[in-house]
Amino acid sequence: RAQHNGLVLCGEYDEDMRECIVNEQVIVNNMHGSLQRGEFLVYLQPKYELMSEKVIGAEALVRWLHPQLGFISPAKFIPVFEQNGFIYQLDKYVWERACQLLREDMDKGRPILPISVNVSRIDLYSPNIVQVFENLIRKYRIPPRYLELELTESAYVENPQQIIEIAKQLQGKGFPILMDDFGSGYSSLNMLKDMPVDILKIDLKFLADSDKEDNGRGGNILNSVVRMAKWLHIPVIAEGVETQQQADFLRTIGCECVQGFFYSKPVPVDVYEGLVDQGYSSDPVLVHLGTDET
Ligand code: C2E
Ligand code: MG
Ligand code: MG
Ligand code: MG
Repeated sequence: RAQHNGLVLCGEYDEDMRECIVNEQVIVNNMHGSLQRGEFLVYLQPKYELMSEKVIGAEALVRWLHPQLGFISPAKFIPVFEQNGFIYQLDKYVWERACQLLREDMDKGRPILPISVNVSRIDLYSPNIVQVFENLIRKYRIPPRYLELELTESAYVENPQQIIEIAKQLQGKGFPILMDDFGSGYSSLNMLKDMPVDILKIDLKFLADSDKEDNGRGGNILNSVVRMAKWLHIPVIAEGVETQQQADFLRTIGCECVQGFFYSKPVPVDVYEGLVDQGYSSDPVLVHLGTDET
């Protein structure tokens, strides 16, 4: 069983595991070896249609379980990797894993539900980023609409013109564009005017704790955002849903989809498959993007 005082010993990763304390140097010293040894794991967090409570897909989230150091949180290593450029290598690994999983579903005759992957703002500066995604779906023979791309507002803020251009190209190739963490930055509304966005992800964490439970101020903001999205015909996924009360409120304001600990934490692939088997919708209320022809 894993211990967290430095010496761990099993490959099991528990979402509740206490994270280890490491500094940036340790992260940098270990990243390449860990990627080679398969110590970065791809977990899936299901997304649900709020009304039917059926699984409609998942977000791929990377986990780092180092055999000696233990569990290192993405919040700690992602910013380091974004600074030293390693994020691109890691992300390509995660994207490929997502494609593999989609291929496996197709081969096994399992329900095929989209998987969204995170695309760091750093990745978007790679000159052949569009080609990278095209090569992946060609290699694994999957329709692009099953590989959803989560971009963040920070990418847009840094370099609006370039990011809009790349996002348009990706969308043009059939990859759905999800705007992640919508509302957490400073230029959300402005961004929505220009960015190609197929689905908005609103993170409830952007609301102050005191605003989360009551349906006062935070509730009004959420309500407005969902209504605005409806006007724009953009479906919404609320992230970070932790309580029944939040879920109920989201339902009353017409939010279509949810993702959060209240429904499920990010889980290993086999656990995700079990959740899908309990009820899924491959025809969710989300917009239909493209066709199945590759
Ligand atoms: P994100 O893309 O917004 O992913 C959602 C984060 O919220 C995940 O944290 C998830 O575990 C967490 N979360 C989901 N539901 C709840 C909830 O109900 N309550 C709370 N408190 N948290 C919830 P995680 O996995 O720690 O990742 C944090 C961030 O790290 C991600 O935010 C994303 O920006 C980044 N990240 C994770 N995996 C990758 C990856 O493969 N590539 C890149 N570039 N970034 C990644
Ligand atoms: Mg995300
Ligand atoms: Mg998010
Ligand atoms: Mg986030």
